Amino acid sequence: MSNLWERVERLIGSGNLDRLAEKKVGVVGLGSGGGFVALSLAMSGVSQFALIDSDELERGNITRHVADLRYVGANKAAAVADLIRQRNPDAQIDVREGLIEDNWNCLDDLDLLVVAVDNEQVKYAINEQCLKRRLRASYAGVYERGEGGDHAIIKPFDGPCYACWSEATREGVKVSLDPGGDLDYGMIGEMGTLDAEPGLWVNVTKVAGIQADMIINELLLGTSAHVEMPGNTLLVTNTYMDIIEGQESEPHTGLWIEIERDPDCLVCGERLKQSLSLLAKDDSEGISLDDLAASGLTTDIVFEEEEG
Ligand SMILES: [Zn+2]
Repeated sequence: MSNLWERVERLIGSGNLDRLAEKKVGVVGLGSGGGFVALSLAMSGVSQFALIDSDELERGNITRHVADLRYVGANKAAAVADLIRQRNPDAQIDVREGLIEDNWNCLDDLDLLVVAVDNEQVKYAINEQCLKRRLRASYAGVYERGEGGDHAIIKPFDGPCYACWSEATREGVKVSLDPGGDLDYGMIGEMGTLDAEPGLWVNVTKVAGIQADMIINELLLGTSAHVEMPGNTLLVTNTYMDIIEGQESEPHTGLWIEIERDPDCLVCGERLKQSLSLLAKDDSEGISLDDLAASGLTTDIVFEEEEG
């Protein structure tokens, strides 16, 4: 490691910095949130990336993006890759200028995936691909006008999948500025995207900063630097808002909750079991990691939870 990393090394230790440098993180969607997360991870020592985005940076993006006017017209993944190399010249970056649906193979060798797209259908497709690969994934959402946001790391077959998680959060957590009002988050628009106005850069990057911090923590699982979090989901506010219906939270506060896996989930429950021809097993808990390993569906990705 060059002098570039001296201060990070002093903070987290050389062993942990080496560990982060060995990790490969994918980021799908290099918009305001995903771009900030990717750059933040690179500045914390992660040095291997897969960046996937089909969009070009437009002038209208500039006030809410890590890339500035010099990158207008460039592919967003390529622009963020360039910014990462300006911070870490040794970074190894697999840039995919296209849709994730055409680039599933770039998930094969990842340690964690950052899902920073806003299309819910694409998120569900990514969720299924992550389950197949036993790939951990980080999902963050910013509420309408940046009033707040949430974050969760989804660990396949260890807690909820994204389908279980999103169903529980949308139904169980009322996110609204006005008590008794409608959900501001989770209203799916015609294009399949969350029907919400984006927040200011300061509001988006607050959630994205938390997301990046939690990813670093997850990548350091099994080390002394890892901190056990009080729940699998964090909800944060930027202003006064009801995270839980009828309970007003103060600005810049957070609430940890635990979202359970739905044993009847169509994605991580019975349907996957069917596809693996494991129906004969009388296992109401759903499929176990051992079952999955025995099925031969995935064998390459080694989970690190056992080390803790
Ligand atoms: Zn599920």
